[in-house]
Amino acid sequence: MTDGTQRVRAEIDLGAVLFNMESMHRHIDEGTKMIAVIKANGYGHGAARIASELDQLDYVWGYAAATFEEAREIRQAGSSKPVLILGHCFPYCYEELADLAIRPAVFRKDSLAQLSRAAQAKGSRIPIHIAVDTGMTRIGIRPDEAGLAFVRDCLAVPGIEVEGIFTHFARADEWDREATKDQIRLFTDFTGRIREELGYEIPLKHCSNSAGIIAYPEANMDLVRAGITLYGLWPSDEVDRDIIPLKPVMSLKSHIVYIKDVPAGCRVSYGGTYETKEETRIATVPVGYADGYPRSLSGKGYVLVRGKKAPILGRICMDQCMIDVSGIPEAREDDEVTLIGRDQGQVITMEELGDLSGRFNYELACDISERVPRIYVRNFD
Ligand SMILES: *Cc1c(COP(=O)(O)O)cnc(C)c1O
Repeated sequence: MTDGTQRVRAEIDLGAVLFNMESMHRHIDEGTKMIAVIKANGYGHGAARIASELDQLDYVWGYAAATFEEAREIRQAGSSKPVLILGHCFPYCYEELADLAIRPAVFRKDSLAQLSRAAQAKGSRIPIHIAVDTGMTRIGIRPDEAGLAFVRDCLAVPGIEVEGIFTHFARADEWDREATKDQIRLFTDFTGRIREELGYEIPLKHCSNSAGIIAYPEANMDLVRAGITLYGLWPSDEVDRDIIPLKPVMSLKSHIVYIKDVPAGCRVSYGGTYETKEETRIATVPVGYADGYPRSLSGKGYVLVRGKKAPILGRICMDQCMIDVSGIPEAREDDEVTLIGRDQGQVITMEELGDLSGRFNYELACDISERVPRIYVRNFD
């Protein structure tokens, strides 16, 4: 390999992305379509590439992004499917939304008025999805009288098409089902009131995230929003892993750049926090926390070399770290190093690294930095 991916690369298995999508689709109701959540550059996996992979699937209604810039990137990547912005959309982009058929989440009166003006200025209609707060207490109108009045306004203002309404689960990844059942009931009651009191059936109702897709079939509705599971990762350890089979999508690979034998009593890395107890074979790996490899794995994590575990010694630096290869005498400079993923019979999952580093698997994936080239492969078809 001579293409700049030797130092470190994130391998993204597009076959696994399709497998995960199909796997979820088999599990949901026939009439339910899917939104692929590709915010934060597809949880670090590469939003544009994931979107172009999924665009062929009829059951993928569209994509969800967190910001206008992310939504525009998906549009510019060539997809003509709808893109929904899940968070607040600031007014500077309202006219462009109209041009790009990007759907904002709407819950503020002032935004509604400004969107309406932008649509009229463009002579077009902006489709919106109304965000409802049923228990997350983040964005969204409350499902009460004032909320109903807001929906009435949305239906009345010129230039606005109420295409969808959604809510978001706060605790669907927990064993206890009560909080989520309450959220589903509040949402269903509220859309029922819209139907009965305002005489309007909002075409696209959605509430499930990945955990909801796995555990709450009754919450399928018109659309579901698949995020973390699309990448083969689990929402939490309380989710049943037997319901929907998933394959991890991202591996993180590097190569050993240096090996040396040092005597006992040798201190390793910043702060000298690790001291060798005997003669030790130490390998240097050119990956550090600036690549998104968590510094909190210092002295705790391990990598795989030739299918064997090699512990991290001392502190992880910005761009490098050291590992103990004393137990792998066959290890050589330029050998491949697996930081996340499979090497022969061994595997390091994002979940395991999350546990070891005291972080969250979602966070680890998002934090793999821009400096790490993403390489798209199809190991799994
Ligand atoms: C991020 C997000 C999702 C996806 O959540 P996952 O747990 O990754 O499936 C769905 N809906 C909203 C509103 C979100 O913000």
